[in-house]
Amino acid sequence: MYADIIIDISVENLDRTYQYRIPEHMLGSVSAGDRVIIPFGKGDRKIKGYIVGLSDTPKIEEEKIKDIDSVCPKNISIDDKMISLAFWMKDHFGSTANDALKCVIPVKRVVKNKVDKTILAAVTKEELAEAAAKAEKRHYTAKVRLLNELILEYDSGLKHSLVTDKLNILPATINALVRDGLIKVESSVVYRNYSGAAIEGAKADTAKVELNDDQKKITGSIIGDLRAGKNDKYLIHGITGSGKTEVYLEIIDEVIKQGKSVIMLIPEIALTYQTVKRFYKRFGDSISVLNSRMSAGERYDQYLRAKNGDTKIVIGPRSAVFTPFDNLGLIIIDEEHEGSYKSELSPRYNTRDVAFRRAETEGASVILGSATPSLESYSAACAGRIKLFELDKRAGEAELPTVYVTDLREELKAKNRSIFSRKLKELIGDRLEKHEQTMLFINRRGHSGFVNCRSCGHVIKCPHCDVSLTYHNNGKLICHYCGFEKDMVKCCPECGSPYIMAFGTGTQKVEELLKAEFPSARVLRMDHDTTKQKESYDEILSKFSDHEADILVGTQMIVKGHDFHKVTLVGILLADMSLYSEDFRSAEKTYELLSQAAGRAGRGSAKGDVVIQTYNPEHYAVTAAAAHDYKRFYAEEIEFRRLMNYPPSWNMLKVSILGKEEEPLAKEAGRIYGLIKANTDKKEQAGKSIKIFGPSQEKVFKLNDIYRYAIYLKSDDYGGLVDIKNALSEGTDPQNKEVSIQFDFNPL
Ligand code: ADP
Ligand code: ZN
Ligand code: ZN
Repeated sequence: MYADIIIDISVENLDRTYQYRIPEHMLGSVSAGDRVIIPFGKGDRKIKGYIVGLSDTPKIEEEKIKDIDSVCPKNISIDDKMISLAFWMKDHFGSTANDALKCVIPVKRVVKNKVDKTILAAVTKEELAEAAAKAEKRHYTAKVRLLNELILEYDSGLKHSLVTDKLNILPATINALVRDGLIKVESSVVYRNYSGAAIEGAKADTAKVELNDDQKKITGSIIGDLRAGKNDKYLIHGITGSGKTEVYLEIIDEVIKQGKSVIMLIPEIALTYQTVKRFYKRFGDSISVLNSRMSAGERYDQYLRAKNGDTKIVIGPRSAVFTPFDNLGLIIIDEEHEGSYKSELSPRYNTRDVAFRRAETEGASVILGSATPSLESYSAACAGRIKLFELDKRAGEAELPTVYVTDLREELKAKNRSIFSRKLKELIGDRLEKHEQTMLFINRRGHSGFVNCRSCGHVIKCPHCDVSLTYHNNGKLICHYCGFEKDMVKCCPECGSPYIMAFGTGTQKVEELLKAEFPSARVLRMDHDTTKQKESYDEILSKFSDHEADILVGTQMIVKGHDFHKVTLVGILLADMSLYSEDFRSAEKTYELLSQAAGRAGRGSAKGDVVIQTYNPEHYAVTAAAAHDYKRFYAEEIEFRRLMNYPPSWNMLKVSILGKEEEPLAKEAGRIYGLIKANTDKKEQAGKSIKIFGPSQEKVFKLNDIYRYAIYLKSDDYGGLVDIKNALSEGTDPQNKEVSIQFDFNPL
């Protein structure tokens, strides 16, 4: 038995493994992830290494392979903890060891340390002047320039870069003066701190709001647990604006006072000026921020700051869950229902599960927060695995908005052919008059550009794929999955109405129509086109925040997390799009979007209104969102999941089989199906239920020249699915370049 060992924990060195023999007495007691002492190099220097894999076959001549010296005790340093987390992820989510390790290990600095060098005087001012005079006589003009300058800046010294660039002095001259003992050069490493616009101008001040009774109940309970040394998992189900963030701030404060560190996870899209500023105001420099726009070097700096304890709170998107705090006290996952918490790359980890795992092994607590909890978290709370808290009133003076649902079929019957319903038009006019703000939101989550009948709501679908067809400007209807094409229809195939058209209303179109309808309105638009640059995103938001526009039109981008006090009207132009996707979570996504959008209205003291325009006014996702009633939605939705054995009722595993050649891939898919079947038969005999679907070609069978098959497994037993995944990993050749296999547990 042999072990592959890495000796330097860095992404570049992951593939540089060394093979060692596992001595007889250690066989069976070491496994991947363990830290060992090995003899290394010519002198057999004893160094530490990590086992990343085990094998039976020697990669080099047997005689040349050295023995492992000894095994180190487990989980001492933060590195050990993170490595063992990686191996847990490999097992739990299915990936290679390399991919899992790459998640937890940061890319090493690609740019060099930024070092600030300062030139200081090593002698008194008088001595410097003397030396300058001497140098003058000998016409050492460079030395003279430097010494004279240094006399002027005697106390603070001179920046090295200034001396070499501005004073035009060669390093050789500096070195000569150092040798003469007249000056000295001091260097200090400069960490690139996060210095986004967010922090500029925001002075740290610890003024805080007085929490209301509902908030205090939560902080009291959780802080009580923390003080008693009890770690737990919590879900704060609080409607938008109910003061969850204030609750987080209060609890973070306590954790920091206990000398521990906090990871605050926020979806990237909500990682805005406003949010960061709130944290900065409360905690000043002890926070650091991670985001995907940072360079590798910047991220590495933040990683080091965390590791060295220079920072206590990290705010960032899902990858921040891997921040190497040695004394982790708390992980908060805000907007925990967000899809972005699931990694789309292997290992396809779920941030919530990783946070739970870290918390359990490192003695920390986890708080999930959301206005629309995922079915997974809420059902765990109902089952008592997570402590549930509710905030059902808005904090401060703000009240919940009134929601109007308008049936678009009725609008047409009433001869209103505009994309704005009568109610919405009336209210927009009203807000313009009152100088209050409006947000108009287009749900583009499903398929934009689909064609539907405005009399009966019928949607034209692809006969082969059961997804809606997309209208193209050449007058064709095209399926984006299979390429099916047909001419645009003249009337509705269902009811014969001539009012059938592409509801492809992009934001731009809405903006135009809006200007036609309300010529005096100042309109801002926010979508992918207007926010290509990162600054423009913040720019649009701050313009709107400063009331430089009356109406903001946008995609779901504008829905998340912004807190505009003057917005008293929110219009959702077509609520239905996300109901038409074939995802079993489509109702959940729709409910989520509608209530988040509705949550934007009336965050200040003036009461807000919301208009939801839809062809499905009786769908439970729409009615429950309109009534601000998550529990009602949950009750309906969980029943559907139970009935269909969908998560969270059961677990799902998607096995993808990918390859460049169609023929061998089909064969391999069949072989893998056989492997699965053999395993599930065994499980079924043991009384577990597992259902297999497929193998079937993916909707988009060929993507970037790779053909794709999928097999779905459903089971009430997660562990059983992991067993099957392991059996498949063992039953496939990782060296096979023709065909590869990937896993996704409870895919989104
Ligand atoms: P959430 O995170 O649930 O959306 P926030 O914490 O952002 O809610 O609070 C919404 C608004 O209410 C914010 O402007 C916040 O400053 C204010 N707020 C929160 N708690 C209180 C309180 N106890 N008293 C007064 N205002 C509060
Ligand atoms: Zn199709
Ligand atoms: Zn029709």
